[in-house]
Amino acid sequence: MRFYFIKTPRIIKILFSRYTWCFSSRKNEIYLTFDDGPIPEVTKFVLNELEKHKAKATFFCIGDNIRKYPFIFEKIIKNGHSVGNHTFNHLNGWKTPSESYLKNTLKTEALIHKTQGKKNIKLFRPPYGKIKHSQASQLLKKGYKIIMWDVLSADFDKTTTKEQCAQNVLQKVKNGSIIVFHDSIKAKEKLYYALPIVLAELSKKGYSFKGII
Ligand SMILES: [Zn+2]
Repeated sequence: MRFYFIKTPRIIKILFSRYTWCFSSRKNEIYLTFDDGPIPEVTKFVLNELEKHKAKATFFCIGDNIRKYPFIFEKIIKNGHSVGNHTFNHLNGWKTPSESYLKNTLKTEALIHKTQGKKNIKLFRPPYGKIKHSQASQLLKKGYKIIMWDVLSADFDKTTTKEQCAQNVLQKVKNGSIIVFHDSIKAKEKLYYALPIVLAELSKKGYSFKGII
């Protein structure tokens, strides 16, 4: 059985209205997001595909990957995309004491800040979408926007086919949608198939792709 929603139900958006689930529906704009990178091979593929369509996106980076692959992190920023914090070790908020969670997140913030300098916008996405109320409060107080999503491609799900992954996005997307993909080894096969299709089909329909700012 699936343990997640492809399209986030309205009730969840209302109950957790402190978090950002989507943007204005008045414009034909879509917000693609990529979690768990940066890693050289997969992130480079994503950057190339985005460039082909003059698309901008947001990358929620794991701090430890920024540490390992600073050059690819720099390339994301150089290409004009937005970056956000996804903790240093991909922590599950529900299983982590709030103090360690915050410390781990600030470790990534320092790395992002070093590369991005003053332009640093504080965006955070909790790994697994799991974050305690107290953790969220602390991050909001520090000026973070907590970015959730409107549509999951489900590229992380072993039981989803690559075709289904593309369809998940194409069928559920609307103006202002925040869409989740992963620039990870685990999602690679589906991403390599679905992302070019999603970019081509949605461009044809007149959507533009924006980074979160
Ligand atoms: Zn993640």
